[in-house]
Amino acid sequence: MELKISEKFKKLIVDTGRELYKQNLTIGTWGNISVLDPETDLVYIKPSGMDYNEINLEDVIVIDKKGKTIEGFRKPSIEMPMHLSIYNARKDVGAIVHYHPIYSSVLAVTGFSLPGICEDFVQIVGEKVLCAKYALPGSEELAENAVASLGNRNAVFLLNHGTLSVGKDMKEAMKVCYVVEKTAHIYILSKSVGKCRIIPEEDIKIMQDFAKNSYGKE
Ligand code: 13P
Ligand code: ZN
Repeated sequence: MELKISEKFKKLIVDTGRELYKQNLTIGTWGNISVLDPETDLVYIKPSGMDYNEINLEDVIVIDKKGKTIEGFRKPSIEMPMHLSIYNARKDVGAIVHYHPIYSSVLAVTGFSLPGICEDFVQIVGEKVLCAKYALPGSEELAENAVASLGNRNAVFLLNHGTLSVGKDMKEAMKVCYVVEKTAHIYILSKSVGKCRIIPEEDIKIMQDFAKNSYGKE
């Protein structure tokens, strides 16, 4: 059976890469993006080491969940094992963005976690974001560490490296990127003003329920 390749998902990789770069959420060729087509179970992933502004539709690689190239002539991102491990562990995830931003990387190089201090953060990211144990970029070990510290939350820090966000689709994954980076920025600034208050666990549950079932819905 021939698997249907979708230009729509290729375009999503190209456009999201440009947005990530334009919004200063990453620099150079670093970071990586993938999206899962739920109909075919194929993953669309960014090529390794390519400038975001130079990536076009034909540069996107289409792989299966085992990492076999189905279409594309480029080398897939070195973090393909991390992307695939997350899709295999989290059936609710449809898109993954790994990026090298400033403020959440400050936390990622110190090994700090980010507590639930802002209402948008706890609603869409989780009650906190943890920092995964160190491993070399592109390694299976990094993939395992990232999955373990991601848990059922929507973002994780990678020690001495950067940040990774997930969502049910690309729009959600990018929203998580912005909210994590904004919250990390606030957290770091708040440290120079005083002690920040962490939202109580029961309120976090109420807010998460609201975000899932009521917010923005008729
Ligand atoms: P790729 O260019 O291979 O995606 O690697 C960039 C990166 O951020 C590695 O962690
Ligand atoms: Zn990286």
